[in-house]
Amino acid sequence: MSVIGTGYLGATHAACMAELGHEVVGVDVDSAKIESLQSGTVPFYEPGLPEVLTRNLESGRLDFTTDYRRAAEFANVHFLGVGTPQRRGSYAADLTYVCAVIEDLVPLLEGDHVIFGKSTVPVGTADDLQELADSLAGPGTSVEIAWNPEFLREGYAVKDTITPDRIVLGVRRGDSRAEEIAREVYAMPIGGGTPFLVMDRVTSELVKVSANAFLATKISFINAVSEICEKTGGDVTKLADAIGHDERIGRKFLGAGLGFGGGCLPKDIRAFMARADELGADQALTFLREVDAINMRRRDRVVQLTRGLCDGNLLGHRVTVLGAAFKPNSDDVRDSPALSVAGSLSLAGAEVSVFDPQAMDNARKVFPTLNYAASVEEALEGAEIVVLATEWDQFRELDPVEVGGIVDRKVIIDGRNVLPVEKWQDAGWNIQALGRSL
Ligand code: NAD
Repeated sequence: MSVIGTGYLGATHAACMAELGHEVVGVDVDSAKIESLQSGTVPFYEPGLPEVLTRNLESGRLDFTTDYRRAAEFANVHFLGVGTPQRRGSYAADLTYVCAVIEDLVPLLEGDHVIFGKSTVPVGTADDLQELADSLAGPGTSVEIAWNPEFLREGYAVKDTITPDRIVLGVRRGDSRAEEIAREVYAMPIGGGTPFLVMDRVTSELVKVSANAFLATKISFINAVSEICEKTGGDVTKLADAIGHDERIGRKFLGAGLGFGGGCLPKDIRAFMARADELGADQALTFLREVDAINMRRRDRVVQLTRGLCDGNLLGHRVTVLGAAFKPNSDDVRDSPALSVAGSLSLAGAEVSVFDPQAMDNARKVFPTLNYAASVEEALEGAEIVVLATEWDQFRELDPVEVGGIVDRKVIIDGRNVLPVEKWQDAGWNIQALGRSL
């Protein structure tokens, strides 16, 4: 098989498919990325992936190339995992890369091929790509487009790919070989009990965006309640524990704090709204606009809290932001709440020092004007206010007595509601958190 697009999704998929015993070639247009993967180095942080990559390169089952012709000759099953970012100046998804794969690959194919789309796309894309593929396929060549959306979580990507909690497959109506092939590809997880759900292509595309819209809504729900707690003196974490005991609600994704970010949820809910608009069903998803707005307001709230702790003016104050990645166990800074807060504080005149265990290089590329410290201790030196913005274990486990000796003033904002409040207060810290009056 080939895996086209070897970013977070594709590199993981390629290595894990080889781990399942398949012969895999990964293809990308980024030659630096391909060289890195080919030499056994994962160009991003993903626990466990380097081991899977090296093991399978050594076994000879896994290879990487920038040459589409190799993919066309080598494989008759192709996975498409290129990016679908937010289009500039619009909420809609940019499908340029997805279309480019079909345009570049299909004319090179001979015989019977199935392309499984894994990228997150607006509903209707697979049908459009089928038309495009049909128009480009040579005589005697058949190309079937199926959709197999990906649900992996960065930080758990290997486990989520090898033993996913479900496999969703969208196939065209009528004649289709995709299900039979997918059953073969995923024989191991299916044999291990992973639910395998076959449906039409449109529904499969909707499953992915609906899952992300639901998760985003759940996070923004608790963050909206958090705003009310802030006005009334309630405690959002106790509230979340209490409602979370209701199994219809559940405690997961009710962590009030700085909200969601990353390369998926924000752009996916926006693309879902844009598509609903195109379909004349915009009213169905207007609530997602609120979900997005609540989420962005949390970032403003942290900046406002920090400003309040500096007597209303951030100018010249030394603020340390712990975290730059959009979530722990990842180096991904795409639409990161942590980096957004750090940037806003800096633009408001604060002297901002940032530390993240893995995302420093990516953060530096996006926001080169911030001070990046070499260690958490260096970042905290002389700080007047500390903002915990990404809940890495390293930050959760900080000893408040020890770090109390490094900072200038013992003031911390727990932007993720993960610190043991009493322990910090006992060590003489003024600890502030979102949705709680402490
Ligand atoms: P990414 O930016 O890390 O990777 C995309 C890759 O595609 C890049 O390496 C890029 O060079 C390559 N590419 C672009 N055009 C190409 C072309 N014409 N031919 C070959 N390669 C090309 O993005 P990602 O995070 O891996 O996301 C990819 C898709 O998967 C998106 O649709 C995303 O929404 C979806 N997704 C991502 C995750 C995740 O956790 N990252 C999870 C589920 C779904």
